Amino acid sequence: MSNSVLVIGGGIAGVQAALDLANAGAHVYLVENSPVIGGKMAALDKNFPTMDCSICIEAPKLSEVMQHRHITVLTLSEVVEVEGEAGNFKVKVLENPRFVTDECTRCGDCVPACPVILKNEFDVGMGARKAIYLPFDQAEPGNYVIDIKNCLNDPPNFIPCNRCVEACGPKCIDFNMKPKIHELKVGSIIVATGIELFDATQIPEYSYGRHPDILTAMELERLLQSSGPSRGEVIKPSNKEHPHKVAFILCVGSRDRRFYNFCSRVCCMYTIKQALQLVDHGIPDVTVFYMDIRAYGKGFDEMFERAKRSGVRFVRSRPGRVIPNGSGLDVIYEDTLTGEVKCESFDMVVLATALTPPDSLSKLAQTLGIELAEDGFVKVWEIEGNNIITTRKGIYACGGATGPKDIPDSITEASAAAAYALSHLTSRELAIEEFEEQIDASGEPRVGVFVCHCGSNIAGVVDIKKVLENVKKIQYVVHVDEQRFSCSGAGTRYIENVIREKKLNRVVVAACSPKTHSPVFMRT
Ligand code: SF4
Ligand code: SF4
Repeated sequence: MSNSVLVIGGGIAGVQAALDLANAGAHVYLVENSPVIGGKMAALDKNFPTMDCSICIEAPKLSEVMQHRHITVLTLSEVVEVEGEAGNFKVKVLENPRFVTDECTRCGDCVPACPVILKNEFDVGMGARKAIYLPFDQAEPGNYVIDIKNCLNDPPNFIPCNRCVEACGPKCIDFNMKPKIHELKVGSIIVATGIELFDATQIPEYSYGRHPDILTAMELERLLQSSGPSRGEVIKPSNKEHPHKVAFILCVGSRDRRFYNFCSRVCCMYTIKQALQLVDHGIPDVTVFYMDIRAYGKGFDEMFERAKRSGVRFVRSRPGRVIPNGSGLDVIYEDTLTGEVKCESFDMVVLATALTPPDSLSKLAQTLGIELAEDGFVKVWEIEGNNIITTRKGIYACGGATGPKDIPDSITEASAAAAYALSHLTSRELAIEEFEEQIDASGEPRVGVFVCHCGSNIAGVVDIKKVLENVKKIQYVVHVDEQRFSCSGAGTRYIENVIREKKLNRVVVAACSPKTHSPVFMRT
């Protein structure tokens, strides 16, 4: 019998399940097929209805996963074989090489040296990256990664481009890394594979892909993000100017018999959130074309009312076409309250696309020996109100793996799945924090102050240089510093090194809410 659990998927649901399991004394193998953990939540700007900064909530959890002695993270990895039964599964995981070792310091010197420019998937193609890259600033694991499919060094002989190797001071780029097979014994398995987004080109009448100012909601989310491709400016991709009149179209691909019958459950609320953000950005005319507004959760309806009070116009309708007209984008729709067919012109159109099952889910389901439901998500037995139990004993599913849902619901299900997964383990070992180096806190205080920019969330409002100048003058302050993201793995490792070097015995981190971030800095 095993004391380990396999969690498949490193988005917020997988991360939460891994932390709950590890804190309960299980060993966790967290398998993620992309180079970093964090999933879709890492790419969002703000979360509804609280308007919390998404990565500020998630980054502390990501760094806790990386620091946790009970969690083994395998990125660029996929589950290729599962045998056995609940309590005693034997699993094979294929881990693809990253070509950059853990000695990477994140200096970024390799990036300007690399001649290959590609679309950055993290920015849904709106920004660029190189063949050697880190998907986003707070990414975990934090070592860079080489996209070998697009790298000019051809395997297996690696015809020298090697510019990145020459630029890398710590010599941590290694083209000899090979794929590895990990053979794991686990008592239970959690599927937390998340969601994908509907490809809006499948609805040609909305002209997505034929005009740069017709965006998906995820593209707008990246524009809103302070570390996104426009550094938080809402601009029209066609001419980089601010739009004045923006339309949102809901249910693009969902509640549509041609594509997905189901309601994607989050589009109404993320659209209301984005509409409010556009109002905050000073965009005077914002219209939402909706079928129903499904504001069912805590604080959701209040947010809907706030959007209406803020001047967002809600039009009950099902737009039939979006037509680029030279100077703008015509939206043709039937007002379903009056029955009139109307045409109105906008500067920018945002499509709230459906949340869909990942293409890779059916292959994974075959490997795991579990069934999928008709909608393509993992089938669960909805007994006793339970959405967690799959069709194979010992395998559980949570979050977007079982259907579209929001972040709080995904987190709740992840904790429930972790509780079920624990029931198959025979032994557990609580992770007791052991401090390898003791810091003598007696004697004169030696205070280090670290002020976080949080991209531009803090630095856009606070004059950080002035704060540092003033803090320097305070008695006992022996070190002041500024950081782009203090809570990232690179940020906390830097703080750790400074504590050691400067023999700090008091540390102040000026960053986001202590509610979410204190544990990360205390652990550091
Ligand atoms: Fe870029 Fe050349 Fe390095 Fe490949 S070998 S990642 S193309 S610099
Ligand atoms: Fe710096 Fe080397 Fe890491 Fe690139 S791979 S970020 S050059 S340490």
